[in-house]
Amino acid sequence: MTTSAHEPEELAEIRRAVRALCDGFPGEYWRAKDASREYPAEFVDALTRAGFLAALIPVEHGGSGLSLAAACIIMEEIQASGCNGSSAHAQMYIMNTLLRYGSPEQKAAYLPRIASGELRLQAFGVSEPTSGTDTLSLKTRAVRAKDTGGDHYIISGQKIWTSRAEYSDLMLLLARTTPREEAASKTEGLSIFLVDMQAALGNGMTVKPIRTMMNHSSCEVFFDDLRIPASALVGEEGKGFRYILSGMNAERILIAAECIGDAKWFIEKATGYAKDRSVFARPIGQNQGVQFPIARCYAQMRAAELMVHHAARVYDEGGNPGEEANMAKLLASEASWAAADMCVQTFGGFGFAEEYDVERKFREARLYTVAPISTNLILSYLAEHVLGLPRSY
Ligand SMILES: Cc1cc2nc3c(=O)[nH]c(=O)nc-3n(C[C@H](O)[C@H](O)[C@H](O)COP(=O)(O)OP(=O)(O)OC[C@H]3O[C@@H](n4cnc5c(N)ncnc54)[C@H](O)[C@@H]3O)c2cc1C
Repeated sequence: MTTSAHEPEELAEIRRAVRALCDGFPGEYWRAKDASREYPAEFVDALTRAGFLAALIPVEHGGSGLSLAAACIIMEEIQASGCNGSSAHAQMYIMNTLLRYGSPEQKAAYLPRIASGELRLQAFGVSEPTSGTDTLSLKTRAVRAKDTGGDHYIISGQKIWTSRAEYSDLMLLLARTTPREEAASKTEGLSIFLVDMQAALGNGMTVKPIRTMMNHSSCEVFFDDLRIPASALVGEEGKGFRYILSGMNAERILIAAECIGDAKWFIEKATGYAKDRSVFARPIGQNQGVQFPIARCYAQMRAAELMVHHAARVYDEGGNPGEEANMAKLLASEASWAAADMCVQTFGGFGFAEEYDVERKFREARLYTVAPISTNLILSYLAEHVLGLPRSY
């Protein structure tokens, strides 16, 4: 599939290396994992051993210190190869918070071990059952323990949709440290913690998997007076919401890159099938009714891809790509979903047969107009923060 017209050689090299690794994980592998809702541990291990999941960790902490643009190529190519990066993508996008706001001690303690694969940083605990998209209403509390002179926090509450919670050693957790009515402003009073999940499991933290439309390892996580050391606090107490927001640009750009990869996979699959499948004694792709939707999806994907590249460039140059990251996520998730739908239509009945992987990728691609942020909320951001329209909520 044609990629960016002028991809620099160092990015093209990363793309080839990711593709070579992914070739070892064909459709059969993903189908089996999907059927048993099993975590693709072998795939994640291979990505870790190859250093791809440490792309954003600085060299001095054992990573490869690559740009976000390079990290995007990794995530895009995983999806374009038919694999599923959702098993590991959080390690890329959570990293930003630890890198920007973690203390030197936290970075020294965790980053080299994450880079080597000894520790997995895969769980991100933000969403809660009652607050939904309204993150500032979250109810999970972190209270300084009085009995140890404030050396600990006691966590109580519940998270939902914490993906990969069963397969992560560390969780980045957002919890309220100051009651909303006592906080200096509505965005203050939330704090970020780096929770040692292995120590927490069974000692105040329980994890319950949720069976979903696709194999995503999402869970409910319950905190019942979990005691964590005060040294788990990331940055300053009360500033957690700001930290999370600043990390969201990287997250949105990386997810958008995954969507571009998915769109490429669907377009390539549909194109191949439309050439091979013969009905009425000619390839179905000879009919404009079949080829035009493929061509339209291709154009839509390429336009979204430009926005992803632009957003990554603004990020890598140290700018604030709030507008670009949101638009990249919006356009890329819509492009991948349009391509998914088109691919099923092109395959006709075979689009529903598991052996072609189209139905699996279709289910997986559906997520991204909803999570990690829904299309409506992106439109609200653009309307309010870019166009200056009144806040709608
Ligand atoms: C498979 C999966 C994995 C996930 N992984 C994680 C994870 O690892 N960590 C984590 O913290 N979360 C995770 N999430 C949660 C995800 O981020 C949320 O589902 C998503 O942000 C939407 O929130 P919600 O489900 O609470 O929807 P709600 O907030 O209940 O919204 C429902 C619908 O209403 C719309 N809506 C709500 N308010 C408005 C408004 N003011 N204006 C217009 N429309 C509005 C939304 O756009 C949405 O379409 C995951 C979710 C899924 C399904």
